[in-house]
Formats: sequence, structure tokens, C-alpha cells
Amino acid sequence: MSLVDEAFSRLFPEAAFTYAAHLRYSGKFKQYNATVRKAGGALYFNLSRSWKSTSEEIVIGLIQHLLVKILRSERLAAAKDNSGKISSLNMQLYDDFIKGISEVAAVNNGSGSSDESLESSFARVNEKYFFGIADKPNLRWGLGSFRKLASYDYHTNTITVSSLFRDAPQQLLDYLMYHELLHKKLKFSSSNGRVQHHSSEFRRLELDFEGSSTIEQKLNLFLRSSRRQLRNVRQRPNWLRLFSFQ
Ligand SMILES: [Zn+2]
Repeated sequence: MSLVDEAFSRLFPEAAFTYAAHLRYSGKFKQYNATVRKAGGALYFNLSRSWKSTSEEIVIGLIQHLLVKILRSERLAAAKDNSGKISSLNMQLYDDFIKGISEVAAVNNGSGSSDESLESSFARVNEKYFFGIADKPNLRWGLGSFRKLASYDYHTNTITVSSLFRDAPQQLLDYLMYHELLHKKLKFSSSNGRVQHHSSEFRRLELDFEGSSTIEQKLNLFLRSSRRQLRNVRQRPNWLRLFSFQ
């Protein structure tokens, strides 16, 4: 029995597995990443190579999460338990495993990888809101995205902040840092294949940030002015080219 068959039959004991399943490990993925794709009667699972050395029971939980996601509409009704939730021992093992990775994932303290303003933002926020005892995750600048301002990746234990905030007021950077550190601290809960990151506890703790009542407004103003600046910068080269080449 393949891992996919095993995962399916444990999740849907009454149902027949009618798909042709393909499972592939890839070195191109980020650590502990995985995807699934459905094409006709076939399911294609692509797992990061790091899953190869992980216990089969946990990989089964991962595959079950992916199955629930992709077969959502067709099969879910059949697998719900009395509480209306879809879960299995393997899925819980998987969740715990992912939460555990964020605790032990290597933190790169080497020179060149760290950034002074991210480091000091972490230090300020840790001191003020986490009694100075939060473990430091990897910290890095991401692309200059307006949509994804910051994120925490459990798989690699990394907080990424949009490069737009390189020269932002300290309070804004610290706010993003605080939000992402809350993710690291509170982890997530999942049910029915949906992952909840912003629980009511999360929202409550978010309010502890000093000045939280006006921070979203400040954030919006900052983003608006960054957008304006970016437009100006982008227009200037065109303008120069017009006059220097024609
Ligand atoms: Zn969040």
C-alpha cells in the first residue's frame, strides 16, 4: 500500500480510493513544503526532500491535510466526525511536528545574514512585550511588497519583513515584528483542513502593542506615501531617457 493509499483509507475508511496517486520528492522546494495537484483522475503530490527522512506517520498526516484540501467538496461530508470536524491522529501529529520545527529550526547567526535594524527591532519588542525571553527566529528582509507586509514561516522559523520598511518609523517596524512574534508564540490551530492563525487570543494580545489603536492608520499613511515615492522614482528614469536619447 502506498503512503497516499494509506493516508486516504485511514481518513475515509468507508470510501474507495479511485485516484491514481503519484508521489514525488523534490529538492527544489523549501524545507518541509509540499503541494498537491489534481488532473483528471490523478493526484500529484510533490513533497520537499526533507520529508523523506521524516517519520511515515507524520508524512501520512501531511498527505491527509493535502487530501482534505484538494478533495474538499467531494468527500468531506463522508469523513466528518460527530463534532463536524475532519481530523485524524496523523493530522494532529503533523500539526505538532510543524509547530515543533519552528522551535528547533536552525537560526542563522552568521554575519551577513542578519540585519541591524531587524535585530534591534526584535530586541526592543522582545524586551518590552516578551519579558526578554522570546527565542530569536531568523530575520530577513523580503521583496518590497505592499500586500504582504510581513510573515512568519514555521518551516524555517523565519520572520520576513517587506523591504518597504527598511526606512520606516521604528514604531511601524516594531509593530510588524510584534505581530509576527505573536505568530511564533501562539502557533496555529487547524480544523477541516483550514488553518487558523489569528485566533481571538491573538487579536487580544495584539492590542497590548503600545499605540495599537492608531497603528493601522499610521501604517496606511506610510504605505500611501511609499507608493507615491515609488511612483516618482519610477517615472524619473523614463523622463531622463526621453530627453537624453531623443
Ligand atoms: Zn498575522
